[in-house]
Amino acid sequence: MSDASSAPPPVPMVDETAIKEIATGVFVICDRRIPFVPNVGIIVGSHTALIVDTGMGPTNGKTVLNAAKRIAGQRPLMLTVTHFHPEHGFGAQVFKGSARIHYNRSQRDELRAKGEGYLGMFRTFGPHLVAALEGTKLVEPDDIYEGTSTSIDLGERTVELRTWGLAHTAGDQVVWLPQERILFTGDLAEERMFPIFPWFPPSDADIDGARWAQVLTELISWKPAVVVPGHGDIGGAEILVAVRDYMVDLGRRVAIEKQSGKEADAIVAGLAAKVRAEHPDWSAPEWIDFAIKYYASLS
Ligand SMILES: [Zn+2]
Repeated sequence: MSDASSAPPPVPMVDETAIKEIATGVFVICDRRIPFVPNVGIIVGSHTALIVDTGMGPTNGKTVLNAAKRIAGQRPLMLTVTHFHPEHGFGAQVFKGSARIHYNRSQRDELRAKGEGYLGMFRTFGPHLVAALEGTKLVEPDDIYEGTSTSIDLGERTVELRTWGLAHTAGDQVVWLPQERILFTGDLAEERMFPIFPWFPPSDADIDGARWAQVLTELISWKPAVVVPGHGDIGGAEILVAVRDYMVDLGRRVAIEKQSGKEADAIVAGLAAKVRAEHPDWSAPEWIDFAIKYYASLS
């Protein structure tokens, strides 16, 4: 008998056949709920197509680029990513010369500062990630924008890129289609999955949970009709509400425990299993401990 729990985790591969057209000219290559596979967007205007996120490593990047070329035909391609993390941006090298790569300044700066470190760290997570990252070279964007937002005219379709500063990372960026009210969130929101708190001090302690929750509240106020989370199934604004409420509630509970004099490890020991049980259908419970330790670090 095979034991699924002891099977090695799969190499995270973007599967082009998992593509869905969620509105005319707006495609998502769905993650199929496979860890370290992101939801990838391909947004086609009359004269240009924009790709959102690359998948992890050059093989996944090629899959995404080929899908985009097939869909976009002769249109020039642009690439942006929701943030610098490996499964979202570490396939960008194959787009060099085939797509104009466009990030915000913080994304570029964070990639420069932490990219090699994350490449090394992710390779320690197991042979499945070593395989996905084989041959990865980090590349610079062709363009960056300053400030908190920019618009891209794809031809009869305008896409807005928006960033707020430190939240899940220093450069999180959403992609918003105002006409269709479609929102790509990156890892600011996952669906039926514990939020990813990349709390890896001392090498990376750049999270702002309060701003992250505020950003989600603002995104909810945009009344998106469709939310494409970084990971998980496509849905509506309820995805954002669930993540925001989880974070605010957990932050409050950790603060109460801390006031009673408990250290981070003791708070994890007392709280993690309860939090897990409150969300029985959510995946990736390993992120609960990271979230608790982050909130416990706040003064
Ligand atoms: Zn991330």
